[in-house]
Amino acid sequence: MEPIRMVDLKGQYTFIEPEVRKALDEVLNTTSFINGPAVKDFQADLEKYLDVKHVIPCANGTDALQIALMGLKLQPGDEVITADFTFAATVEVISLLQLVPVLVDVDAKSFNIDPIAVEAAITPKTKAIIPVHLFGQAADMDAINAIAEKHDLYVIEDNAQGIGSTYTHANGKTAKTGTLGHVAATSFFPSKNLGAYGDGGAIFTNDDELAHFIRGIVNHGMYERYYHDVVGVNSRLDTMQAAVLKIKLQYLDFYNERRKEAAIRYTSLLKDHPNILTPHRDADCSSHVFHQYTLRIINHDRDGLVKFLNENEIPCGVYYPVPLHSQKAYADPGVDESRFPVTNQLVKEVISLPMHSELSEEQVLFISNKVLEYLG
Ligand SMILES: *Cc1c(COP(=O)(O)O)cnc(C)c1O
Repeated sequence: MEPIRMVDLKGQYTFIEPEVRKALDEVLNTTSFINGPAVKDFQADLEKYLDVKHVIPCANGTDALQIALMGLKLQPGDEVITADFTFAATVEVISLLQLVPVLVDVDAKSFNIDPIAVEAAITPKTKAIIPVHLFGQAADMDAINAIAEKHDLYVIEDNAQGIGSTYTHANGKTAKTGTLGHVAATSFFPSKNLGAYGDGGAIFTNDDELAHFIRGIVNHGMYERYYHDVVGVNSRLDTMQAAVLKIKLQYLDFYNERRKEAAIRYTSLLKDHPNILTPHRDADCSSHVFHQYTLRIINHDRDGLVKFLNENEIPCGVYYPVPLHSQKAYADPGVDESRFPVTNQLVKEVISLPMHSELSEEQVLFISNKVLEYLG
């Protein structure tokens, strides 16, 4: 059996090596390292894949979130509601722009932002909601969009973990995550479902005016060369990354399908154990692209399991060990802990098992058996 990795970028590369080398050679030979043709090509391919009017590539997913917020012209002091249980980038950009992050609890089954908690957190200063499609499963977008409409708020999707996932609205219509709110951000960090060979990110929107404004922001606030209309940033997807992503986008559905197969296999092996809660899937409203395969270990020693798996050369992760409201950078000393019962519980129980498109049946069986062996 091959050594088990949390993500297997080498195995994936082996499969597409000739294509990638050819594309990178082309970039090297033309030396168009910035804004080369591959950037525009990838942008167009991704617009088509997502069925969205505008994809604006940028340097990474954190920038994408920041630029999306800048594009909406939010003002210092405006409140932005987001999930307490997510990667810190989501809240980091809110604080950096001197907006006020308002963290709310998540749903115990889906791990996604709880619409009831969102509504309860709305004040006259609330301007936007950032749902995160955590671990690859869409947040409850019908409920969130309804709240946003009622209170006249923007919805910014953090789609860094959800690319390729399809959401089914209550009326039966489907759309890709990242096209469901006013604007969305994604990341092409190498370990993401659509990963570059370095940093990368993008912003999506169907709003022409917003897209135009954002295209200037990513380029120093320029709409005409050397005329700076607004304070912008320098955030670009470089041509080499775009060339890699253009190739990998063709395989995204295939990669996500392989992840789903591994997830189904894990679940069938683990679901009956009394100390395990396998990932909840609401297949009627969201396809799950399993950025992570995350178990809850209930009434047992999660940290002991992590140690045991590592001793058996099985990497695993705890995403995330600390609620954002307890992180030093974002902690509010007067916080009411009773607002976060679910997140406070999840941080003690979650464990993410190896998940990637190259995971073999044999590896999933081995990992699952070790998990069961430890839990007894
Ligand atoms: C990875 C990630 C980001 C940030 O992406 P980078 O490209 O690493 O800046 C933001 N939000 C979530 C939920 C992520 O998983």
